[in-house]
Amino acid sequence: MGVSTLPHAPVGEPLSSCDDTAFRMHCRTWLAGNLPPPPNFGLPVSAIEIASDEQLTYLRNWQRAAYDAGLVGCDYPACYGGGGRTDCQAIANEELRSAGAPYLPNIVGLGMAAPAIYHHGTEAQKRRFIPGILSADEIWCQGFSEPGAGSDLANVQAFAERRDDRWVIHGHKVWTSLAQFADWMILLARTDRGHKYRGLSYFLVPIAAALGRGVEVRPLIKMTGGLGFNEVLFDGLEVGDDALLDQPGRGWSVAMTTLLHERGGGPLVTPGAGVGLAGDASQTRGPGGLPALARSCVRAGRAAADDPVIRDKIVRLLIRERGFLATEHRAGHPVLQEHPQRLQLQHKLLLSELLQDTARVACEIQGMASTLHRSHPGLVAGEWSHKYMNSYGFTIAAGTSEVQRNILGERVLGLAKSK
Ligand SMILES: Cc1cc2nc3c(=O)[nH]c(=O)nc-3n(C[C@H](O)[C@H](O)[C@H](O)COP(=O)(O)OP(=O)(O)OC[C@H]3O[C@@H](n4cnc5c(N)ncnc54)[C@H](O)[C@@H]3O)c2cc1C
Repeated sequence: MGVSTLPHAPVGEPLSSCDDTAFRMHCRTWLAGNLPPPPNFGLPVSAIEIASDEQLTYLRNWQRAAYDAGLVGCDYPACYGGGGRTDCQAIANEELRSAGAPYLPNIVGLGMAAPAIYHHGTEAQKRRFIPGILSADEIWCQGFSEPGAGSDLANVQAFAERRDDRWVIHGHKVWTSLAQFADWMILLARTDRGHKYRGLSYFLVPIAAALGRGVEVRPLIKMTGGLGFNEVLFDGLEVGDDALLDQPGRGWSVAMTTLLHERGGGPLVTPGAGVGLAGDASQTRGPGGLPALARSCVRAGRAAADDPVIRDKIVRLLIRERGFLATEHRAGHPVLQEHPQRLQLQHKLLLSELLQDTARVACEIQGMASTLHRSHPGLVAGEWSHKYMNSYGFTIAAGTSEVQRNILGERVLGLAKSK
C-alpha cells in the first residue's frame, strides 16, 4: 500500500506479527474496563476544535492510557516507543471505534508527523519524536497552508534562509489547527526561490518554546463560533540542521508522504488522526443514529420516520456507510488492491462527504428545530446543525473534494491533467 505500510524494520528490531484474535481480545477486554468516564464539560466534535486546557488534558490522559495499554502506535517498532507489532493498528482502530472510545487529541502528530518522521527521519529524530507523539506528551500542529498556498501547496512562500550553520525562518501560516496547544510543528518552507518543488524543505519546529521569540500564534474564529484555527507568524525563528526532516530541497516529497497519511490514514495511523475524521464515523457522526432521530422528531403531526422520503435518504446513507466500512476492511488486504493508492486516496473524500450528507439529512429530519443553537434546552440530539457547519471543514481540510477528485482522476483513472 504505497508508503503507508511499514516497509522496513529498523536494524536489530524484529517485528512480531499480530495474532489477530489474541490482540483483538486484549483490546476489547481493556476497553471494556478502561473507557474514561464522560467529562463534566463538553467535548468538541473533533480534535481540531479543542478549545480549552481541560478538554485537552482529558483527551491527552485518554491517549496516554490507550497508548500504555498498547492500542496506540501498535505497529511502530519498540525502539521508537511503539508496540513492535505488524498489522495490529487496524484491529485496535476497529475496537476503539466500536467501543465508542473518545478520539485522540494528538491528531496531527499521529496522522501526519509520526509517519513523516518514520519514513524520512534520521534515527535520532525517530527516537526523539515518535514516542512523545504516541503518548501525547508532545502535541503537534501542521504548518503547510498559507494565504496564497492551499490547494496549490507548492506555492508556499514562508522562507528559511541559510545563515552560517542555522536556518532563519520568516513567513505566515494560516488555518493551523491546534497551534495554540502545540509544542511542535511540521513546517513546509521554501529554501530556494528558483525552483517551485525542489525549492521546498521540511522542518520540525519547536513552536511553543519559541513563542515570543520568532513565533506568534493568533487565534481565528470559525463559522461555528468555535476555536481551533490559528495563524502562525514566523519572524526570524532560528533552527539548526537537526530541525530538517530529510534533505534540503526534499520538502515536497516529505509533504506528499504526510498528505497521503493525512488523507487516507494507513496501518500506522490511529483513530482520530487524519483530519479528525477516522475513528468515529459510525459512533457519533455517521448515519447509524438517524433512524432513532427520525422516530423521535415529530413534524406536521407525524414522526419524521413515517415520511418515505426521509426513510429513503436514511437507507441510502446507511448503505454508503456499509460500503465505506467494507472499503476500509479491503484496505487491510493488499491482494484486493489493484492500484496501490486508490483506497487511500478515496478514503478522505468518501468519509468527509458521507458525514456531511449525514449531517444534512439529520437537519432535515429535525426540521425547524435544526435552526436552534445546540445549547437550546430540550433540543433533540442537538449537535446536528453544529456538525453540519463543521462538516464543511472536513471537505476542505487536507485537500478539498474538488482537488481529491482531480487526484483520483489523474493518478488512478489516468485521465488528462486538470491544468
Ligand atoms: C477544518 C480545517 C482544518 C485545517 N487545518 C489545517 C492545518 O492544521 N494546517 C494547515 O496547514 N492547513 C490546514 N487547513 C487548510 C487546508 O489545507 C486548506 O484550506 C485547503 O488545502 C484548501 O486551500 P484554501 O483554503 O487555500 O482554498 P483554495 O486552494 O484557495 O481553494 C478555493 C476553491 O477553489 C477550488 N480549487 C482550487 N484549486 C482547484 C483545482 N485545481 N481544481 C478544482 N478546484 C480547485 C477548491 O476546491 C476550493 O473550492 C485546514 C482547513 C480546514 C477547513
